[in-house]
Amino acid sequence: MRDPFKITQPTCISFSGGRTSAYMLWRVLQANHGLPEHTLICFANTGKEAEATLRFVRECAERWCVPIHWLEYCDTPLGFTPVNFETASRCGEPFEALILKRRYLPNPVSRFCTSELKIRPMHKFIRQHGWQDWDQLIGIRADEQRRAAKIRARGHSTESTHETMRMPLVDAGGTVHDVNRFWQTQAFNLELLTVNGRTLEGNCDLCFLKPQRQRLALIRANPKSADWWIAMEALELASRPSGARFRNDGPTYAEMARFLINQGDLFDSSDASTSCFCGD
Ligand code: SF4
Repeated sequence: MRDPFKITQPTCISFSGGRTSAYMLWRVLQANHGLPEHTLICFANTGKEAEATLRFVRECAERWCVPIHWLEYCDTPLGFTPVNFETASRCGEPFEALILKRRYLPNPVSRFCTSELKIRPMHKFIRQHGWQDWDQLIGIRADEQRRAAKIRARGHSTESTHETMRMPLVDAGGTVHDVNRFWQTQAFNLELLTVNGRTLEGNCDLCFLKPQRQRLALIRANPKSADWWIAMEALELASRPSGARFRNDGPTYAEMARFLINQGDLFDSSDASTSCFCGD
């Protein structure tokens, strides 16, 4: 049987900055005795990643001696800006630029932030290398069957039919236990809290797809983290009122921050997170 981590054609490794995609990268390096030719590792920064994530991405590159390309969305013909740990946005600048361009907020029905902030900048970067068709390795695990099935049914990304989605961890049966076991043996780790295999602060800090109670807990731990989300919902956008909230089926970020302590019943304990391309 073919080793799912073996690379034989132009391949982009989508590195989300989480433990799972980092583990996938490590398995690729083991299977190929280093980074194969015609392989690009990309990390798309939204400007709303936790500082620990940025440190982790830098540390993976340094410790494993591989180039990780840091990209940020920008509204130019090129479509992305190459950045690094020092120059990466930390105040949501790429995300805000996208919102101002689209004139409405992403939401569970129209999750354009994933494709515009992450997928497209990667595609544009890849095409700059002259690639026409390529494999995209994404860090979905074997215990994430619903996500895997959805992606497998599509076969390619929502943005390009020239890209073949590959999930080597699914093919190899790699689960959250394998990921955790691996990181327990490493000299470094992602310094973010994990509960039941989910990194609560992973991806955009208060992503609207995280359950309300999770966002509430994160705001309680760091009240300042709500400021950017509140500011975005306060923007004068074209499609008010529906386009001026990240979610219409729950409280605004301002409401969550305001009623944090007194109105616990504002939050629905049954809501679950929704998966997106953004990964672990
Ligand atoms: S983590 Fe959430 S808010 Fe950030 S790009 Fe992904 S879906 Fe959008």
